[in-house]
Amino acid sequence: MHGLTPSLWPVRYKPFPDELTSSWLVRLAHGMGLKVQTFCNLIFGNRLQVWNRDIDRLAPSWLLDELIQRTATPKDIAYATSLKAYEGAFFNHFKASGVLPWVLNLKMYHRTRRAYGQQFCAECLAADEQPYFRRRWRLAFCTFCSIHQRLLDDRCHQCGEAVAYFRMDFGRDEASGEVPMRSCHACGARYDEAPPVLGDGYSREGMEWLVCRQELLDLQQGFELPGVDWSEFAVLRQTLKLLSSTYRNVNLHDHLLAELGVEDPGLAPGRLLFEVRPTQERFHLLQLGAWMMTDVEGAYRRAWNARALRYNHLLKDFRNAPEWFVGIAESMRDWRSRTR
Ligand SMILES: [Zn+2]
Ligand SMILES: [Zn+2]
Repeated sequence: MHGLTPSLWPVRYKPFPDELTSSWLVRLAHGMGLKVQTFCNLIFGNRLQVWNRDIDRLAPSWLLDELIQRTATPKDIAYATSLKAYEGAFFNHFKASGVLPWVLNLKMYHRTRRAYGQQFCAECLAADEQPYFRRRWRLAFCTFCSIHQRLLDDRCHQCGEAVAYFRMDFGRDEASGEVPMRSCHACGARYDEAPPVLGDGYSREGMEWLVCRQELLDLQQGFELPGVDWSEFAVLRQTLKLLSSTYRNVNLHDHLLAELGVEDPGLAPGRLLFEVRPTQERFHLLQLGAWMMTDVEGAYRRAWNARALRYNHLLKDFRNAPEWFVGIAESMRDWRSRTR
């Protein structure tokens, strides 16, 4: 008969700062000298499939509690590896499916990742003694690394495949040992050799606004979320929604391109959600949004005066809008107060 507490594994890696659950799990499997699939079948059996769901988002307790017991990891540290831990910050209420604000979607379908929802910084991976994937790289807000001043990648620079590091050891021998999480599972290209892409800033103020918030996420070492004004993120997200909306005769996107003197990069057509757009498009939209955030009232009023926004769009589908923003929106209720 087994004891009441399951025995500890010989390898008891703890999560690295800001590490994702799936990255931690893959490191543990390789640390034990096993392929990821073998390791998961051994622990969870064939009944509980690990990789056909987004475990980083769902934080299944059958998975996390097992890791906690086998590696003697404190519960709060283990649960902080999941995206669910952003509840109360990037989103108010967690949900298992559908759009979760600010969380990149993997669009899981069996084991195939169809969306580019797992980003990485090639230089962070190159600098890691043991490469690992950061939780913040699953956030739609994060489009660059403030430490290495480069855009994040969201696919293999060589073959274009989405990142799936749990598949890196497919087809390898069990005995071949640890497989560092820095190569493409499809073509073998090393992620840490991806050439740097540097984005141009559209405005100094907007870039400063983005960088100072990105730094808080990049430099965070513990498990507490940075103390930022989350109502600003809510307003930024509403601004991004308005930027990708296509209302008749109303175009905030064009208005901001003109205001900043920026060329239209040609976004993927349709009302695509911010959370499913590729990194480059999100970086473009975020810069426009951040420019508005540096002076919300002034920027919104200029757009409204220019008829690039209408009062009834401002609070549309904006649940839990912060009062300070409702105040700004209400001041634009009367079209007769428009100035030229
Ligand atoms: Zn980096
Ligand atoms: Zn590749």
